[in-house]
Amino acid sequence: MNMEQKTIDIPKVFHCDYTGGPFQKCIQCEMKLYEGDVPYLIEKALKPYGSYEAYSTIFEYAVCLGCADSMKSMLSKSSLANLMNYFQQHVDFYAHRAHLVAQEEYDPMKWIEKCLVSRRDVNELAECQIYASCQGDQLVFSEFPYMISGPVLDEVVDLLSAETKDELDNYRKEIVDGPSEFQDLLKSGPKVFV
Ligand SMILES: [Zn+2]
Repeated sequence: MNMEQKTIDIPKVFHCDYTGGPFQKCIQCEMKLYEGDVPYLIEKALKPYGSYEAYSTIFEYAVCLGCADSMKSMLSKSSLANLMNYFQQHVDFYAHRAHLVAQEEYDPMKWIEKCLVSRRDVNELAECQIYASCQGDQLVFSEFPYMISGPVLDEVVDLLSAETKDELDNYRKEIVDGPSEFQDLLKSGPKVFV
């Protein structure tokens, strides 16, 4: 791990709400993550009730970088080009990180309190997704963690080709029929976690 990379114990907001503990395995290949050494990503879609103090979980998973790459390969060329264009125009990852690092703000909640693209605060949002990069039991500060607000996610989905949307739909169906904890969470509907 890069010496300049600051890490902390994975905070509760990035835990698995279904089990109440940290994510253990990759949703796709089931590789051990929390007790392992490979880098991985956590993604959660939430409906916050004014803050991250109370929210319901729409979906959540952890995925190893290898599987995350294979998910990316499902995107068509035009979708990928559109996405890259969009993020280049709208997001300055470097500024996002540099500002917080300059203030020595390694509070992960500060990193996810405003949408990376629109800068809207979590307290104004009906829906958002949060992302973290982790290794073992540590959250690694890089361009992650960050939050993307619901309206921005809708814009991003509109950039995807019909072909890519079909692929992603099929993938989602496969996942939902797959690991049981994911399925159970979706079936049981939103919950509130305080
Ligand atoms: Zn995996």
